[in-house]
Amino acid sequence: MSKPAEWSVEVSKQLYGLEHSIRGEYLTIDETGALVLKIGDESVRIIDLMKKYGFETAYIRFLPAIKSTMKKVFETFKTLSQIHGYTGKFQPVFPMKVNPIPLVIDAIWRYGEEFNWGFNSGSIGELRLLHRYLDKGSRLLIYDGVVSDNVLKLLMDFKKAGWHVIVDVESEHDLQVLSKYGEINVGIRVKPFYKPGGKWSHSAGLEGKFGLTINTLLKLIKEYKWLNERAILIHIHGGSQIYELKHIAAIFDEARILFNDLRSIGFENISIIDTGGGMAYPYHDSRKGTPESPNYTIVDYLNLLIRKFNDVHPHPTLVFEGGRYIVASHRIVVAKVVDVRPYSTEYKPFETGNGERLIGIPESLEGIKKILQYTRDIQSKIKGKTLTLAERERVEDIITHYREEIIVKLAEIIRSNPSSVENIINDPLLYKILTSPSRRFIVNLSLFADIPDSVLVNQYFQVTPIQKLNEKPDVLAVLGDLTCDSMGELREFISDVEIETSVDSWFNRMDFRISHLPKKYLKLGGIPLHLPGKDEDYYLAFLDTGAYQDPLAMKHNLIYGAPEIVIDINGSGKPVIKVLKHGRKSYL
Ligand SMILES: *Cc1c(COP(=O)(O)O)cnc(C)c1O
Repeated sequence: MSKPAEWSVEVSKQLYGLEHSIRGEYLTIDETGALVLKIGDESVRIIDLMKKYGFETAYIRFLPAIKSTMKKVFETFKTLSQIHGYTGKFQPVFPMKVNPIPLVIDAIWRYGEEFNWGFNSGSIGELRLLHRYLDKGSRLLIYDGVVSDNVLKLLMDFKKAGWHVIVDVESEHDLQVLSKYGEINVGIRVKPFYKPGGKWSHSAGLEGKFGLTINTLLKLIKEYKWLNERAILIHIHGGSQIYELKHIAAIFDEARILFNDLRSIGFENISIIDTGGGMAYPYHDSRKGTPESPNYTIVDYLNLLIRKFNDVHPHPTLVFEGGRYIVASHRIVVAKVVDVRPYSTEYKPFETGNGERLIGIPESLEGIKKILQYTRDIQSKIKGKTLTLAERERVEDIITHYREEIIVKLAEIIRSNPSSVENIINDPLLYKILTSPSRRFIVNLSLFADIPDSVLVNQYFQVTPIQKLNEKPDVLAVLGDLTCDSMGELREFISDVEIETSVDSWFNRMDFRISHLPKKYLKLGGIPLHLPGKDEDYYLAFLDTGAYQDPLAMKHNLIYGAPEIVIDINGSGKPVIKVLKHGRKSYL
């Protein structure tokens, strides 16, 4: 057996989720322990970018990431369709609501030329933004919102300019409006019967917000005779971030049955199937089948899509409507740590003074658990009582003394007998204390403005330091933002290290919490981080914030609007870096 590894850049890569099937292509750690972006043939240290422009908070937009996911989707389909002999067309579209900022739409437009990438729009605002590309080419435009004469007027502009326009209908109102626009093709959006689980599951099922139920559709077919002629697409969308492949399969099955049945009752012009979004992005790439970690890849997804429709004849055109998957990786939020505070009461060696004896920490796990329980009991006993300053200090000191001493003792036990770790972490009370935070790092950002989904839907975003990645972490820290809102805190961290590391490297340098255990999937109560030295600028990066976070950004406490470092690659493979100031270098 080889000797277990000490801390290294390789351990950091696994700990901070940087061995990644998508962003791993361009985001890595260099030999100095700095997070770097590989831009064409060059490497740029992110800390150098922050220092160069003097930013404490910034969004780094790496536009080539968008191109590379588009290409991956396109080429994967191409390869798989050759393998399966699928002759239907592939038609990707970008659902604009995922990120409608002009920079992103422009990237989709430019990079999408080669793949004929279309758009899915759900609002008049999005149509107006797209209007600037009206005469620059023609793409597929699927309109998926509530229709009105104003919407249709805009859509007619696209149609006249040569775009392929399809308007999804999902109610009688839509059909009434569309009756007047005979030259517009329609898509029939049907509610998925199947609920795929996950945070957006309520978008599906018979009570879902979008689409027609079959009984309404069958009624409308009788009343609106033109529907047979004009319907060319069926659309079924099961929600976003569907993290298990079996749920995707169920949605595809529904789409296939709808397609076959509608064609058999006379909808002969339907030749396009739009199975909606749902292609999950691996926020944590461990294939666990959890909300942050889908159990499938784009290859599995497209393979399934083609297999499900391979028996349908003629082979329909297949619309890919994933947006999260395409843009999530392109934006990195970088922010400086501006303060380090104790998480709870501060640990100082307990001075009993007048000859009192403190109980030592026992060697047995049972004894340790008894003391842990005792520190909890004290807190509940004094609940509601008013304590003097001296009493309160004493209680705080006692509680922290025992908790910290217990952590040191557990570390000692594990070091002297590494196999005991299994037993210890299987005990919920002991696991919790060994993975509890000891610090609160205040970071120069607002979760509400910069990663709102961490507040709105408790979404997991990977956090990593951008420096010192060749060093073992010092502490587990909860991240507090600048808002005066207790929801502005981030504490969850998934630790999933495969490398056989030495016992010594399992424990943080300062607080003796564990940052990882080899081949164990752990959820920690804080982020493993280094204590910034005096006058040291210590920055954190929040990865994969390119989908939904821009349009959902909130202005809580009026903290919003970070500067942006926009990176692209020119024709000869060289980086092109533009800075958009938005007025401030720091939120402070
Ligand atoms: C939101 C939405 C999408 C995007 O889905 P993601 O899985 O988040 O990429 C696709 N299609 C429709 C109709 C949507 O409303």
